[in-house]
Amino acid sequence: MAKYKITFDRKTCIGSGACTSVCPENWELVEKNGEFKAKPKKTEISEEEYASNAEAAAICPVECITIEKIKAKKRMADDEGFGSEEEQSDEEEDF
Ligand code: SF4
Repeated sequence: MAKYKITFDRKTCIGSGACTSVCPENWELVEKNGEFKAKPKKTEISEEEYASNAEAAAICPVECITIEKIKAKKRMADDEGFGSEEEQSDEEEDF
């Protein structure tokens, strides 16, 4: 099942609260030094949580929320293993 990573640029956020209105399950406004900024409760979300978070990203007036799909770890591990096997076979040919 796909997973997604949320990247949030806190400096750019103007605290409009739009994200919290469309996705209150993951976005909240937090006050710090008299200034309100959004804060994601989770930065790694499941496929079920993607739609509402994507809506939050789309509605943000300053586009400070981005969401990207996380690559499956199993496949990356397989690729690395394949690469090291190739290196070993090259060394054997030298002898
Ligand atoms: S919609 Fe964007 S600017 Fe508004 S509070 Fe959320 S992250 Fe900040």
